[in-house]
Amino acid sequence: MTIGILGGGQLGYMLALAGYPLGLHFRFLDPSPEAPVGRIATRITAPFTDRSALAKFAAGLELVTYEFENVPVETARFLAERVPVLPPPAALEVAQDRLNEKRLFQQLGIATTEFAAVADGVALAGAIKHIGLPAILKTCRMGYDGKGQWSLRNAEDADRARSELTAANLAAKDGKDGAPEHAGFILERLVPFTRELSILAVRGRTGETAVYPLVENHHRGGILRLSLAPAPQLDRAVQQGAEDAARRIFDALNYVGVLAIEFFEYEGRLLANEIAPRVHNSGHWTIEGAITSQFENHLRAVVGLPLGSTHAVGCSVMLNLIGDVPNSAEVLTVRDAHLHLYGKSARAGRKLGHVTLRASSPEQLASRLGELPSYFHRPEFGLDAVLRHSASARR
Ligand code: AMP
Repeated sequence: MTIGILGGGQLGYMLALAGYPLGLHFRFLDPSPEAPVGRIATRITAPFTDRSALAKFAAGLELVTYEFENVPVETARFLAERVPVLPPPAALEVAQDRLNEKRLFQQLGIATTEFAAVADGVALAGAIKHIGLPAILKTCRMGYDGKGQWSLRNAEDADRARSELTAANLAAKDGKDGAPEHAGFILERLVPFTRELSILAVRGRTGETAVYPLVENHHRGGILRLSLAPAPQLDRAVQQGAEDAARRIFDALNYVGVLAIEFFEYEGRLLANEIAPRVHNSGHWTIEGAITSQFENHLRAVVGLPLGSTHAVGCSVMLNLIGDVPNSAEVLTVRDAHLHLYGKSARAGRKLGHVTLRASSPEQLASRLGELPSYFHRPEFGLDAVLRHSASARR
């Protein structure tokens, strides 16, 4: 059985590694000749919009899934005429547009921060009046890892953002030339959150669902740096709220596969920020830290196999290796440290790998973190602050 995967980055790489023991084969399509999956699977190098390459890619596949949420929706629909595409293309449509996403949350009764659509620089003042400051202005489309965002704390920030928007002529399209209707901006009230949490949930082709415990995430410069799993001292009601949100989205989108939802925890409750219709960086800990990894469960779901247990095995911390990597031997001398390198060339800001450290208790985890090599004690990891923070979240 050959599965087609759109996107050949580290998520695709880890999907294939999880799928080989299940007897699955993979074919990837990615625009970059450097895509990491080239080392381990058949890959077609072509733009996502190349229809003849897409037709060749689809021939003989059991199904197509994706590891990148900015695959053009038209690509997914073109393929869906030939072979099942899971999660359904409608999930891509929602996830690619922050306004669609927030409106779906609203329709489904999932709490979010206050938000308003902003068509262009001129409309910004009206939106600020409605939402208030401080706020965050975000492009509706193609923003990721904190890119395409303006933090608006006061009137000067708002003026600067307005002139940048106008100068760059970044305006909402009216949909006439096939451009998406909401290609503008969204203004969100800044949430003074206690912490950021995410949930990974999975739904199989039969409708069976399974949910991993919530994870606590720490970002630096808009990029995920570290995840603690399960999130320390989690209120049962908060976990239930996240599971309930996932099930509502599953039903609304007739979803199959792994879904990630990112939340802010604020005043003891969850506000949904965004979804990713794919396996997610905040789920990498599941490879060693859960009975079944997110990668294996995604494949089980889309293929139609029974789902595996999502229970955590002890507690884990996942640390992203960004820009450069530590000495492998130094990492692996730490007990129950697991190293994953994606085979990418080093570049500033690039995710090159991750390390998962597992322990049987939070105390043991804290002491193992202390044993990690100096690479992990650089200020950008903020390990001490993370441990302090999670200890205070526990109180
Ligand atoms: P996003 O691209 O929406 O995931 O945003 C990147 C990061 O910016 C998030 O992980 C948060 O740390 C922060 N952020 C985004 N939106 C908000 C918000 N409305 N309030 C507070 N922080 C936010």
